[in-house]
Amino acid sequence: MLPYGRQSIADTDVQAVTEVLLGEWLTTGPMVGSFEAELARWTGGVPCLAVTSGTAALHVAYAAAGVGPGDEVITSPLTFVATAATAAMRGARVVFADVQPDTGNLDPASASALVTCATRAITAVDYAGHPADYDELRAIADRTGAVLIGDAAHSLGSRYKDRPVGEQADLTTFSFFPTKTVTTAEGGAVAVRDHDRYVRAARFRNHGLVRDPAEQRDPGHGGWHQEVHDFGLNYRLPDVLCALGLSQLRRLEGFRARRIELVARYDALLGDLPGLTLPARRPYTTPCWHLYPVRVRDGRRREVYERMRAEGIGVQVNYIPAYWHPVFEDLGYRRGICPEAESYYAEQLSLPLFPDLTDQQQDEVVDRLRAILD
Ligand SMILES: *Cc1c(COP(=O)(O)O)cnc(C)c1O
Repeated sequence: MLPYGRQSIADTDVQAVTEVLLGEWLTTGPMVGSFEAELARWTGGVPCLAVTSGTAALHVAYAAAGVGPGDEVITSPLTFVATAATAAMRGARVVFADVQPDTGNLDPASASALVTCATRAITAVDYAGHPADYDELRAIADRTGAVLIGDAAHSLGSRYKDRPVGEQADLTTFSFFPTKTVTTAEGGAVAVRDHDRYVRAARFRNHGLVRDPAEQRDPGHGGWHQEVHDFGLNYRLPDVLCALGLSQLRRLEGFRARRIELVARYDALLGDLPGLTLPARRPYTTPCWHLYPVRVRDGRRREVYERMRAEGIGVQVNYIPAYWHPVFEDLGYRRGICPEAESYYAEQLSLPLFPDLTDQQQDEVVDRLRAILD
């Protein structure tokens, strides 16, 4: 089956991992900082913390933002459930705002209408790699004193108004799952603009441990002493995986170019197909596309999904509206609250897109789709 996304592993990646495996530090060593420093070159210099997954990155971001019981977090339902689940696990109430029908991104007008004095964070999702409307969301967040979070699991390497994703939000999260733009097998990171939030995020990632005597409540014990002031978890990404990430980041420019090229080819090859809506792009963005999300009109999405799969083309659907998951249904969320996200979901289909996809494979995808729709 041709997958909708997959990693690209080169000899240089294998070599980077092997060197660390045979070295001194498997985890908590120098490769962590090297990886974080290289990643910060892609976030416009905003400092980054490596963690064990994109989900962990979101959990860390909400902790660093001070999200807790009694707070509300406004986000998009057109995302992987982790964007909302991690806020709910902090004890917050998740408030779903609707999306823009063409980009699938959080609609600032819808988010603005849902702001209350309990709104602690607004979490945008750069759906498919297309940056959200950060300027508009920033204005809403600043007006209400909310923290702006960007779930950039799809958009590492994307640009918004000539600046890299990672600069706009207060906290930006990334995922390095194999289908994402660069991989560490499992892994993620959070970019944090504010110093105090950076310190909170770094502690939450490491059990909440406070090691600096100047910060400790009772520092007189000896050199071994460490304290927990707020509960945290072990979300540390090991050196072995940071080495893979560092090596992958050195290939990101090439990944980016190939993803953009493949998307331009899809746009050109599918433009005249009946019953298909192609993804929109705002002129002030340069997405490093993670997905190629088409909308299959006329109620034919399921048929196209099944026929493509039967022919060995691993198309995917991204995403079921987050609040349709039974866990949210049981909390009282009802269908119909975000009609644009629901219509988007009803028609959405992701076509194969990854750097090692060849022109021939892509032509095959297009031919199969044409045979079904023409
Ligand atoms: C992949 C993804 C996540 C979660 O990342 P993991 O590394 O799989 O935990 C969160 N949000 C979005 C939008 C994603 O695509």
